[in-house]
Order: sequence, then C-alpha cells, then structure tokens
Amino acid sequence: KYVLRLRNVGVTYSGGVVALRSTTLDFFQREFSVLLGLSGAGKSTLLRSLNLLVKPTSGEIVSSDFGVLGPTGALRQHRRRTALIFQHHQLIERHTALANVLTGRLGYHNTLRSFFPLPRADLELALHCLERVGLADKSMTRVDQLSGGQKQRVGIARALAQQPNIILADEPVASLDPATSEKILELLRQVCKEDGITAIVSLHQLEYAQRFADRIIGLAGAHVVFDGAPDELNDDN
Ligand code: ADP
Ligand code: ADP
Repeated sequence: KYVLRLRNVGVTYSGGVVALRSTTLDFFQREFSVLLGLSGAGKSTLLRSLNLLVKPTSGEIVSSDFGVLGPTGALRQHRRRTALIFQHHQLIERHTALANVLTGRLGYHNTLRSFFPLPRADLELALHCLERVGLADKSMTRVDQLSGGQKQRVGIARALAQQPNIILADEPVASLDPATSEKILELLRQVCKEDGITAIVSLHQLEYAQRFADRIIGLAGAHVVFDGAPDELNDDN
C-alpha cells in the first residue's frame, strides 16, 4: 500500500509557467526514489508539492495515514512526519550541531533558550541522531566550524530527530564534491532502509541515481518521462 500518492497533480505558477503536468505516482515505505532531471525539469516543484509547500493547481496529494492533504489537520500531521533536507542545509551557522538537531525535534525557534527546561528524552534522541550520522564528537561544535559534508550530516540528523516516515531531499549533494556526495547518499539510503522511511531525493546526476536509487523517476519539461528501476533505464530513455 502506498504511503503517499499524487493523483493527477499539476502545477502552474502564477505567470503561467507549467512546472508539472498532470502526474499520478505512488510512493512506498522503505523505498528510495530519485527524481532525476535537468535544471528546470520540475523536480523541486514535484518534491515541494508533496508537503504542499507548492500548492497543486489541479489534482491532489493523499497521505495513507492522514488522507487528502488540504487546509485541515491532515496537512499539519503530515508535515510533522515529513522531514526536509535542502541543498544549502538551512542550518543556523552560529549554533552548535546539537542545537540545530534539537530545533528539528522541538520546532523552529531562533534561540535555544525557549527550549529550557529541555526534556531529557529529546536531548538523548538528538545525541543519538548525531551519533547515527557519525558526528557524536561534534555535537557541541558550531556549524560554521564544520565542513560541507558534516553540515549536510547535521541536516540529516535534524531530519531524523523528527522521527519522520517520509524524507524529502531537494538536491542534497549539489554543493558537495563527488566523494562526499557518495557518502551522503549512502547515509540517506541507509537510514531509509533501517527506519523504513519513504525517501524521495532529487538529483541531477544519472550516475548517482543509478547507484543509489531503488526507483528513478525521470522528469523533463514538467513531465514524468521515466519511472522504473535503475537497470530498466537505458539509452532509449
Ligand atoms: P534550483 O534549480 O537550485 O532549485 P532555481 O533557480 O530553479 O534554483 O530556483 C530558486 C528559487 O526561485 C526557487 O524557490 C524557485 O521556486 C524560484 N524560481 C525558479 N524559477 C522561478 C521563476 N521563473 N519565477 C519565480 N520564481 C522562480
Ligand atoms: P528543477 O527543480 O528540476 O530545477 P523547478 O521545479 O525548480 O525545476 O522548476 C520547474 C519550472 O518552474 C522552471 O521553468 C522554473 O523556472 C519554474 N518555477 C519554479 N519555481 C517557480 C516559481 N515560484 N514561480 C514561477 N516559476 C517557477
């Protein structure tokens, strides 16, 4: 059974740009899907429509747990279980890794002061998430002291602290060198499998998609032009 379903979803931006033509797709638990396409293909529009950061102009998004996502409780519940990972990680640079992970757990405040007293369970969970991404020894390091790959690991730890059932990652390795990119994609794939998360990740490198994806959804000109396993993708597509 699907976790998340797009039913005839189309997106036209104000101004008339058609960024996604009517698209129907199901996403499943423990599935690592890659949205693959050139810049402007519609990847980020599709990804953002999955938690209604972009509002579909036609069709609907259905969560198996919460129903049709609309301006009701369903959307809020869905967003709570849907973690976002960005190209530019969107961490607070002058805060520690731990503080950033806690904001994912406890809400997006500007200052940690509003968290106190901090429930012990939240602190332990945040530390556990940092450990899972290999940054146990960096919890008290300010983000601006970390490398690009370490920052993206903090972004993943912050996502995990939300205990998500869905992770949406928009070009998570676009700013990283090849060796670091591979390690980050490996880590994302691993947490998807271990925690049974539905992971939907946009990329523009075919090579990474073929290595890490269970399923590749190819986008071009606002259309899905391919949907299948990496080994079904050949020169005809
Ligand atoms: P990326 O390819 O890294 O997503 P873009 O330049 O496509 O970067 O988009 C950056 C931001 O600008 C996004 O929030 C996107 O939604 C928005 N954007 C992209 N194209 C347009 C456009 N034609 N008009 C208005 N906003 C746009
Ligand atoms: P990708 O993520 O594959 O680069 P996008 O979903 O960002 O593609 O963009 C798809 C198309 O929609 C592009 O033509 C882009 O310029 C346009 N677009 C993206 N965001 C906006 C926006 N906020 N307003 C208007 N046009 C946009």
